[in-house]
Amino acid sequence: MRAYGELNREELLAMKQEVEASYEEARGKGLKLDMSRGKPSKKQLDLAEGMLTVISSNEDCMAEDGLDCRNYGGPVGIPEARRFMGDIMGVPMDQVIVCGNASLTIMFDTVSRSFTHGVLGNTPWSKLDRVKFLCPVPGYDRHFGITEYFGVEMINVPMTPEGPDMDLVEKLVAGDESIKGIWCVPKYSNPQGISYSDETVRRFASLKPAAKDFRIFWDNAYCIHHLYEEAEKQDQILNIIEECEKAGNPDMVYEFASTSKVSFAGGGISAVASSKANLEEIKRHMNYQIISHDKINQLRHVKFFRDLEGVKAHMMKHAAIMRPKFETVVSVLEKELGGLGIGSWQMPKGGYFISFDAMPGCARAIVARAKEAGLVMTGAGATYPYGKDPEDSNIRIAPSLPTPEELAVAADIFVLSVKLVSLEKLLEEKA
Ligand code: PMP
Repeated sequence: MRAYGELNREELLAMKQEVEASYEEARGKGLKLDMSRGKPSKKQLDLAEGMLTVISSNEDCMAEDGLDCRNYGGPVGIPEARRFMGDIMGVPMDQVIVCGNASLTIMFDTVSRSFTHGVLGNTPWSKLDRVKFLCPVPGYDRHFGITEYFGVEMINVPMTPEGPDMDLVEKLVAGDESIKGIWCVPKYSNPQGISYSDETVRRFASLKPAAKDFRIFWDNAYCIHHLYEEAEKQDQILNIIEECEKAGNPDMVYEFASTSKVSFAGGGISAVASSKANLEEIKRHMNYQIISHDKINQLRHVKFFRDLEGVKAHMMKHAAIMRPKFETVVSVLEKELGGLGIGSWQMPKGGYFISFDAMPGCARAIVARAKEAGLVMTGAGATYPYGKDPEDSNIRIAPSLPTPEELAVAADIFVLSVKLVSLEKLLEEKA
């Protein structure tokens, strides 16, 4: 296979004609496929069917401390749910608050509270002239959406295979008091599937930020979402809460997690783990916000999964459904695009996404072409703050929702779109 970049104009034109014919054929089928968001498939949701009946009587509604989960009370979560979420994150239960159905709400509230009331006695961010966040890129669009909503200035920090570029992170946070936070997805990052190295985690824990109220937003959304059984051991990341304590920075991190992609998306339970001081502050705020979260759902989760081992076994059932989908996409990419020099990607060992880097200046056009042929992808640029990918190169592929049969077709449409747009670009350059 010759790289497209080596072809002369005539060869490029001939190739384009060929690809265009296949693309038109695919487009003519009037397909409707969706690879836009990291939604679990129906089969995955079906795995948690038992959760629908695990509480079926009045007697089932008591927490282990005797609290009636049908009533108010237990604002920080029932003990067994705190232990369960703590075990998932590797944090003692007294450093965990279990909340409602979505971790994104806790992240939003954390930013919101920092703006209105400040962090541990520091000036509320709303009273400052400038508030900045570091955003490892490519990253999760909804993180960037929260900080954009609050008018935070977002600074791109490139990802490396070990996590965010820590030389840059260290330099930036040490030199600028207006940098108040960083978004991190430390395990199987969204969208690249990168797990932070031990050195990266230690360097995070030892940061010396100029801002006393600088916080690491450690969104461990994919901490148990392995695609391979062995990945569970290989991809262990260091415990940021412990490392921050060791480094004398116990208050510098908030860790978030949820069961959105474990039980039901948007119908799971979520949790935040942090230092005693940070948790006290969160509780003070929550006191005004809510009387108690849905403890029946908390109890339902613990009754269904039982413990860490139980939930790990459940995640292997998810993996059995997800793995072939990831492998299908990657094998189509390898077969159709390998050696052409028009894109790069990696097979992740966990998480929900495959990150694809097209030739600079091509991502938007590729996503538009795919859409024309009936395949909806995540909008190009979504993986960057303000939806602006400076290279217009990154595309997030979310293989979870389509069936394996649909996925094979979707992957074909995607590679045809990549080829077509790349050929157009190369022809333009050679014009
Ligand atoms: N964090 C990351 C990194 C995610 O990818 C997602 C889901 N796509 C979430 C958080 C959302 O989690 P929740 O449903 O708990 O708000």
